[in-house]
Amino acid sequence: MVFAVRCPARRCRKYMLVEAADRGTVVTCLICRTPIKVPAEPEPEPELEVLDADPAGLPPAKPLPPA
Ligand SMILES: [Zn+2]
Repeated sequence: MVFAVRCPARRCRKYMLVEAADRGTVVTCLICRTPIKVPAEPEPEPELEVLDADPAGLPPAKPLPPA
């Protein structure tokens, strides 16, 4: 399994895919060669929203009439 870590360099900020085995180690950014510390725990990605639940209060969607 791979996951993304973000380069801390201000002018880079690229996401790098690292292997789960790299957790707790330091990888080198392929773009700017800044060392990136890989967190031991996978970080939640705030830019990806989980849409597995409907917001409360919305009426159920009506089925489309047959065309
Ligand atoms: Zn970088």
